[in-house]
Amino acid sequence: GNADLDCELLVLGGGPGGYSAAFRAADLGLDTVLVERYGTLGGVCLNVGCIPSKALLHVAAVIDEAAHASALGVSFGAPQVDIDALRAHKEKVIGKLTTGLAGMAKARKVRTVRGVGQFVDAHHLQVELTKGSGTERNGERQVIRFKQCIIAAGSQAVHLPFLPEDPRIVDSTGALALRSRPERMLVIGGGIIGLEMATVYASLGAKIDVVEMLDGLMQGPDRDLVKIWEKQNAGRFAKVMLKIRTSSVEAREDGLWVKFEGEHAPAEAQRYDLILQAAGRVPNGAKLGAEQAGVAVGERGFIAVDSQMRTNVPHIFAIGDIVGQPMLAHKAVHEAHVAAEAAAGQKSHFDATVIPGVAYTHPEVAWVGLGEDEAKQAGRAIEVARFPWAASGRAIANGADYGVTKLVFDKESHRIIGGGIVGPGAGDMIGEVALAIEMGADALDIGRTIHPHPTLGETIGLAAEVAHGSCTDLP
Ligand code: FAD
Repeated sequence: GNADLDCELLVLGGGPGGYSAAFRAADLGLDTVLVERYGTLGGVCLNVGCIPSKALLHVAAVIDEAAHASALGVSFGAPQVDIDALRAHKEKVIGKLTTGLAGMAKARKVRTVRGVGQFVDAHHLQVELTKGSGTERNGERQVIRFKQCIIAAGSQAVHLPFLPEDPRIVDSTGALALRSRPERMLVIGGGIIGLEMATVYASLGAKIDVVEMLDGLMQGPDRDLVKIWEKQNAGRFAKVMLKIRTSSVEAREDGLWVKFEGEHAPAEAQRYDLILQAAGRVPNGAKLGAEQAGVAVGERGFIAVDSQMRTNVPHIFAIGDIVGQPMLAHKAVHEAHVAAEAAAGQKSHFDATVIPGVAYTHPEVAWVGLGEDEAKQAGRAIEVARFPWAASGRAIANGADYGVTKLVFDKESHRIIGGGIVGPGAGDMIGEVALAIEMGADALDIGRTIHPHPTLGETIGLAAEVAHGSCTDLP
């Protein structure tokens, strides 16, 4: 057919999955084109996800620490938040990273095309070039012919159908835009994204209610770890409503009036200045004209793939949020490398055993592999080692003696199969547990590894020694 551009590999979507795939493929010698509708690379993660949320969570942590410092003998005044400067700081962080990505694409001679892509057939993608993108053929269409393709078009926030169109009702992207400092805010959805944003806005002084239709916040980690998180967060949020749903929202001039339903739901409508909908994310699979290329898209918009990340059409791969849970950047990047290597003719397969999860809240909660709750439900014979941070000198010194490090071992082989940590820095520590699982380490391997003292990471070694029955009580 007629094509304006030819390539060996086309990557659709410039998020962590897409840019990682394009860079790896280019490094392996494939002539690669990357199509992205927005002006910067980085996708949800860099522009409106992982990175801006962490930039703001860091600021929230600083505010928190300062507020609690008087107990340590140091007092600060009330925080004065300049929201414009805070927003500028967040934008600067994003800018550094997206500029870096653009440079990396250029250095690898990955050609980027800015526009919205739609499949024409199994070897052609039509791109509606984004207006104002500075491209010569602004607003026009361009057809790209490809030999192979990697779909990395990601996901977007679920928009609840009963919510009216109103600028005071936002998803995570709107919340990260930091347009206002609400007095009263409702967060719909008690998952990681909702709780991270709730943590940020609480530190800016908002009075926040969280509503979750399930019977617990933060699905993923073991409940005993979440309980510790809940205790530490008891004062942070005004109300946490479990097993309750929002049934209607009326947008009035004086605020958003929300009605709830459920056993312990507030009887009266509640008034809020801002509502964040964080009730999950849906893959963008249904919006790409994938059927034109013969690619099967599931009912919910996910695209099924094999262990090489190939769709039912073998020369078209899919990676990242669009192929399924967990919707996490590090999963997308790992899959990207598998797909790019397979496209370049290598025998790569997705064979990671575990994918860690982290809630970057205060404190952090991190988990990986099989949790205690899950193992028990599955009736698996396990041994659980729990190391309370009250026995860690560093945790006490840091004011984090409430934390816990927990490791789960297979009862017979004593090999580690899972772990969970609650406490500051948990996300930075969980990588060691993931590595131990991938390497098939047992309690002795971990316990006899010399960990630096005094550190929070030391609690992983100490937990393993608990499992091994030889805890040396080194505070
Ligand atoms: P995306 O990042 O969604 O990228 C897809 C790209 O494709 C987008 O840039 C989109 O514009 C483009 N695109 C889509 N359709 C088309 C089309 N037709 N034509 C052209 N371009 C198209 N994950 C973590 O691991 N850690 C975190 O701390 C974390 N925090 C998060 C916080 C928030 C608020 C949110 C919303 C998400 C967070 N995530 C986090 C999840 C993470 O952002 C995603 O898992 C990750 O971005 C998925 O990468 P991806 O490449 O699959 O897709």
